[in-house]
Amino acid sequence: MPTQADTVIVGAGIVGCNIAYRLTELGREDVVVGQGPMPTTGGSSSHAPGIMFQTADSKILTKFANYSRKLYSTLEGQDGEQAYNEVGGIEVAWSEERMDFLQRRVEWGKA
Ligand SMILES: Cc1cc2nc3c(=O)[nH]c(=O)nc-3n(C[C@H](O)[C@H](O)[C@H](O)COP(=O)(O)OP(=O)(O)OC[C@H]3O[C@@H](n4cnc5c(N)ncnc54)[C@H](O)[C@@H]3O)c2cc1C
Repeated sequence: MPTQADTVIVGAGIVGCNIAYRLTELGREDVVVGQGPMPTTGGSSSHAPGIMFQTADSKILTKFANYSRKLYSTLEGQDGEQAYNEVGGIEVAWSEERMDFLQRRVEWGKA
């Protein structure tokens, strides 16, 4: 770990890593992301299974998820392989309430 840097980001979860990605993309060179063994930095990101719902009740969040999906598809892992495998998903309803919610989600998608 360096003892000084122009930019220090505390927390190497998805938010911290995204900020580092954006800053370096904008030309910032001396960026350090906070401590913790990568990729298991102790926060939520290390054990989130990676589900990316493509529809939400907010259009902004829907666009954001769509944008994230496209961005992740361009990223490589440390082994040089594509980091994000887009495999799709199936949601199952076990109750009427859940089924109502899924039908609402279909309508969000259409909207
Ligand atoms: C079980 C589970 C499953 C999930 N599944 C999904 C999913 O499938 N899809 C989805 O989109 N979301 C999912 N989420 C939500 C998602 O994981 C979180 O919204 C997201 O990871 C939050 O990212 P973050 O960068 O804000 O926080 P974090 O990933 O928690 O990162 C914060 C980092 O800051 C560090 N930190 C905190 N305080 C300090 C400090 N004082 N000094 C230095 N470092 C510090 C922590 O160690 C950690 O590494 C899931 C969450 C959980 C708990």
